Amino acid sequence: MSNEPRHFDLIAIGGGSGGLSVAERAARYGARCAVVESRRLGGTCVNVGCVPKKVMWYGASLAHALKDAPGYGFSVGETTFDWAELKAKRDAYISGINGWYVTYLDDSDVALIRGHARLVDARTVEVDGIRYTADHVVLATGGEPVMPEIEGADLGITSDGFFELDHLPGRVAVVGSGYIAVELAGLLNALGTDVSLYLRGEHLLRRFDNLLREHLTEAMLEAGVSVFPRARIESLRRDDDGRLSLHCADGRISGGFESVLWAIGRRPAVTELGLEAIGVIQDEHGHVAVDAYQNTNVAGIYAIGDITGRVELTPVAIAAGRRLADRLFGGQKARRLDYENIATVVFTHPPIGTVGLTEDEARELHGEAVKIYQTSFTSMYHAMTDHPVKTAMKLVTVGAREKVVGCHIIGPGADEMLQGFAVAIRMGATKQDLDDTVAIHPTSAEELVTMR
Ligand SMILES: Cc1cc2nc3c(=O)[nH]c(=O)nc-3n(C[C@H](O)[C@H](O)[C@H](O)COP(=O)(O)OP(=O)(O)OC[C@H]3O[C@@H](n4cnc5c(N)ncnc54)[C@H](O)[C@@H]3O)c2cc1C
Repeated sequence: MSNEPRHFDLIAIGGGSGGLSVAERAARYGARCAVVESRRLGGTCVNVGCVPKKVMWYGASLAHALKDAPGYGFSVGETTFDWAELKAKRDAYISGINGWYVTYLDDSDVALIRGHARLVDARTVEVDGIRYTADHVVLATGGEPVMPEIEGADLGITSDGFFELDHLPGRVAVVGSGYIAVELAGLLNALGTDVSLYLRGEHLLRRFDNLLREHLTEAMLEAGVSVFPRARIESLRRDDDGRLSLHCADGRISGGFESVLWAIGRRPAVTELGLEAIGVIQDEHGHVAVDAYQNTNVAGIYAIGDITGRVELTPVAIAAGRRLADRLFGGQKARRLDYENIATVVFTHPPIGTVGLTEDEARELHGEAVKIYQTSFTSMYHAMTDHPVKTAMKLVTVGAREKVVGCHIIGPGADEMLQGFAVAIRMGATKQDLDDTVAIHPTSAEELVTMR
């Protein structure tokens, strides 16, 4: 321990998407860097987020494919699904990534300090009683799921608990309306769980374009998910039969659940980080306030990723981290992340791909100058199956040149379809540019360049 360096050019607190990226990029410029991580390397995305979720989504997609197979002439006998087997493989895959990150840091000449970090002052970080100093400290501690403050909340689990489930639950209530709620509800449903989805408001995915909301609601109902809007849950109780019941403010009681999954939001991981002591400004939700360059109000302290509450996605944390390192050590003084037009996918069945302004946002900003192109159809794949899932697409354009400011897709393949269109939109593509692009046939994506 005594031979380990105690002073660095940069210390990143948090070994998740953001912290690993800023340190690795800074080290490439020759900066002496360290990452402090209290749990498993890789952070939320690798351990309890994108990665295990996507594995489960692939599994759920196969369940859908098995149902579709007879439409293509296959006779599929009785199939079984072994959740425990898939979980074991998934956990092993993730352990491999955790290990890979240790080597990656080593190869990148970034020191790994294990333990919980706390800021002592603007240049000093304490980890398990040992003090380290750095010229630049990057807060990248991410976030954690929120539990509701109601009676019996602890009887339920969050997305973290979902990834610990050792068997497929028979009947589950998912509470929430955001992307994590609909993704977990969708994959449980596909794998055979009886799922009820409880929304506080009227709609699921309320910040998304209405076309996506409506089509997803229809698809989930069609798939057998029960959706309950306007559910004000007041308590969660364990009944005599060992099952859980939800008690709503309007007197409704829904029981018989093996598991209740809270997916009602996330909050920044700032516990015992020492922010108050050195005066780092946080907003009312605890997110660390940053300017366009990821600077906090304290010189030499920066924040990236979910702790800032800005577009909470892995590639955003990575991009913010890399750009910060470019600016601090790569001589690129104006380098910063542009938070506009960030594409994202919701891994439901069918998946959603979305980038840019929703129709409502565009109309609020540009009024009459907005023109919408939209289509809805059954993809060729589903022409042969007996559950014809709809595909729907919308282009939001603005002005006489019909600049594309939003692109929203729901349907099979939307997840892989959107990335290229996101590039075009970022470059300022107009509807004419899309029309002038020769279609790839036969695909669903071709509809985006042939819409009338
Ligand atoms: C269920 C789920 C599914 C998701 N799916 C997607 C997806 O499909 N696509 C996508 O882009 N994003 C997805 N996300 C979001 C994505 O995981 C986050 O946006 C991303 O991980 C944020 O990176 P970060 O570096 O800010 O924080 P994190 O990845 O959370 O890393 C923070 C790290 O800091 C550590 N830490 C915290 N406090 C301290 C401390 N005081 N000292 C030392 N270490 C500390 C934590 O242990 C953690 O490892 C998902 C999230 C969830 C929960």
